[in-house]
Amino acid sequence: MRFVPLRSRAVYVLALLIAAAGISTTADSSLAQQPPARRNYDAEIQAALESAKSAAGFEFLGTLARNCLLPQSGGEDLRDNVPEYVKDPAKAPPRGSWYAEPAKVFDNFYFVGGKIHSSWALTTKEGIILIDTIYPYNSEELILGGMKKLGLDPKDIKYVLISHAHNDHIGGAEMLQTRYHPRIVMGGPDWEWVEKYPNRYKTMAPKRDIVATDGMKITLGESAVTVWLTPGHTPGTISYTFTVLDRGKPLNVAYSGGTAFNFVNNTPDPGIRNFQIYIDSQRHLAAKAAATGATVLLSNHSEFDNAYNKNRMLAGRGSGPNPYDIGAEWVQRYFKVTEGCARAAQIKLEQRVAGTAMP
Ligand SMILES: [Zn+2]
Repeated sequence: MRFVPLRSRAVYVLALLIAAAGISTTADSSLAQQPPARRNYDAEIQAALESAKSAAGFEFLGTLARNCLLPQSGGEDLRDNVPEYVKDPAKAPPRGSWYAEPAKVFDNFYFVGGKIHSSWALTTKEGIILIDTIYPYNSEELILGGMKKLGLDPKDIKYVLISHAHNDHIGGAEMLQTRYHPRIVMGGPDWEWVEKYPNRYKTMAPKRDIVATDGMKITLGESAVTVWLTPGHTPGTISYTFTVLDRGKPLNVAYSGGTAFNFVNNTPDPGIRNFQIYIDSQRHLAAKAAATGATVLLSNHSEFDNAYNKNRMLAGRGSGPNPYDIGAEWVQRYFKVTEGCARAAQIKLEQRVAGTAMP
């Protein structure tokens, strides 16, 4: 994979232009006579897509669809507007479109999310670490209602980890902070968004608390969640590795905090650089997943980890394996999907820079 540091981008673009123009940069006459090496962009794009497709299998079709197949937004909408469902709660999507039953997933780990967006509670002897908080209009019913149904007390929430500051994950943070006073952890650039866009985060904005750093451990009782900086989806996206118990057996989890290409991605500058930031983050978390022996891949969207379906499978598990325990190889395949899709889109931009894009 080609790495393009910021400072050498101009040199890199120049090199591509020179290559495209067929000009050799070497003074060696024997080399100068050889035709310049041309990249076959279409073949490279195809190879990256194939890599993602073969990695996806049946497990990560949703991830493949979102990142490789569906049209991408050109970037983040950063206008500071109050969301319609905050202005007028009657405009929130109907309950039937998002309500899902809570579920006990592992001995010490619970799903308290909805059909589309997820929230999770890691229980310890000293209290609860809650990961992601869904929308302002459904966090109370899904998280607090779900916890109560599962016999958990929201007063025990000691930490809330917010993977990134989009409304589908930060929506319940202000409510939880106000009512239960947990510590809130979020990436630095996403804390800045919350402070910069008061309308956008109206009713959702927690007061600034813990700024995530790479490798930071959030320890509570006998458990610890390790936080990894994985910028890309947003500049402050964070991900996690931690251990859960499944019928007494420790299992390691990799939690990917942001998946889709929400950054500016439709122009070579800064698209090529943004894709590289995203790819580097996928590799960073994949390496941590491998190092910790993660056999469970979780996300905050059911389309990426099939949480909603797996919760229903849990009910019929009997003495079989936990449907979330997919094995270390499949966890790595998730990252091959996200990286392959990102690389394919990045090469398309590189092709545009080289001026060889097909009409
Ligand atoms: Zn998001």
